[in-house]
Amino acid sequence: MYPPTDSTSEVLVSIGEDFPDIRGAVRRICAAFPGSYWRDVEAREAYPSEFVKALTDAGYLAVLIPESFGGAGLPLRAASVVLEEIHASGGNAGACHAQMYTMGTLLRYGSEAQKMTFLPRIASGELRLQAFGVTEPTTGSDTTKLKTQAVRDGDHYVVNGQKVWTSRALYSDLMLLLARTTPIDRVAKKTDGLSAFLVDMREALNAGMTIRPIKTMVNHNTTEVFFNNLRIPADSLLGTEGKGFRYILDGMNAERILVASESLGDGRWFIRTAAAYATQRTVFGRPIGQNQGVQFPIARAYAELQAAEMVLRGACALFDAARPCGEEANLAKLLTAEAAWHAGEACLQTHGGFGYAREYDVERKWRETRLYQIAPISTNLILAYLGEHVLGMPRSY
Ligand SMILES: Cc1cc2nc3c(=O)[nH]c(=O)nc-3n(C[C@H](O)[C@H](O)[C@H](O)COP(=O)(O)OP(=O)(O)OC[C@H]3O[C@@H](n4cnc5c(N)ncnc54)[C@H](O)[C@@H]3O)c2cc1C
Repeated sequence: MYPPTDSTSEVLVSIGEDFPDIRGAVRRICAAFPGSYWRDVEAREAYPSEFVKALTDAGYLAVLIPESFGGAGLPLRAASVVLEEIHASGGNAGACHAQMYTMGTLLRYGSEAQKMTFLPRIASGELRLQAFGVTEPTTGSDTTKLKTQAVRDGDHYVVNGQKVWTSRALYSDLMLLLARTTPIDRVAKKTDGLSAFLVDMREALNAGMTIRPIKTMVNHNTTEVFFNNLRIPADSLLGTEGKGFRYILDGMNAERILVASESLGDGRWFIRTAAAYATQRTVFGRPIGQNQGVQFPIARAYAELQAAEMVLRGACALFDAARPCGEEANLAKLLTAEAAWHAGEACLQTHGGFGYAREYDVERKWRETRLYQIAPISTNLILAYLGEHVLGMPRSY
């Protein structure tokens, strides 16, 4: 509630380039994947396998996995830095970022046996946990109404239903799936009766699960997934049956913070690219950036981005101190997504007609950064969270 009542102990937020070693190493990896690489992958509607392999081999997709399971055991802030740098380099982490936040559900709620089976193999890159099946076509943001069912049958669950926008499903070995195990009219609260499963997609393919790619504005390798009497072993269940919604919600703060880090990186790329072009492009006998009409939108976008970064760093610091951070994670997601979009607008406008030329990458980054006002949660739903849970106003939906 507002004002916060639990601000007792100090949480320190750093400024400047933290994790310089990680930043430097990620920049070096990204330098091998310039704009021409991303344009080519998009033109082929392909998956950036080489890029994902380079990141995996260097251990950056396993930064959050504890050392005891073969990862680096670093804080969320380190993962945030990795994603920021990828996006600031002109690349896109959408092909592999989900592993960072879906893994948390397995880590927190998986049994020891599940963790021992999967986490070391995810950390080594042998298994990919990139698919996250929550959204459904008929229920959208109203997650608790989702219709995919998993019904217990002996040593198995039988899954029926459909997911939409399940990104990377064709490039993942495992899927974190949310399905209803108790019908909504038989639970006290609509958030009860949903369960989280770790589905082995290699076994599920052609055994009741089919995947159909969706053509989209950006190259996000996203799909529809259909379940038709898919039998999954009962030990695919994570944690307790019926508690899955809470498990997924628990991971949402990490997801919001990590996606916000990508928006921050996008914003950095747009501002750097816009300022360079404005300085170098000469029209009417002088650099276009000498005109305040060109210079000020870039400067304003920079100011907005710097402010959003501080909120993001605060959210990371709270998360890493195991303090409540729902408000800060939502604010960071909202503010960075909007700041990146405004930076993108300034960058596109600064480039004039050349902003439309694919070889400049501006139009690609502009399309890519727009997504974050819609997914993984839309701006309105964040505002609804702030209105209700932070400001104490009536629930709006
Ligand atoms: C490229 C892409 C990749 C994605 N990847 C994944 C993935 O891997 N896994 C996954 O599970 N999902 C994924 N999603 C889905 C994404 O999380 C949803 O698109 C998003 O949560 C919004 O849901 P929706 O599209 O059903 O919109 P809807 O819920 O239909 O909402 C449509 C619009 O109405 C607004 N709205 C709805 N209800 C309210 C309300 N009560 N008050 C105010 N405004 C409201 C929303 O803000 C939105 O602008 C992806 C989406 C895209 C586009």
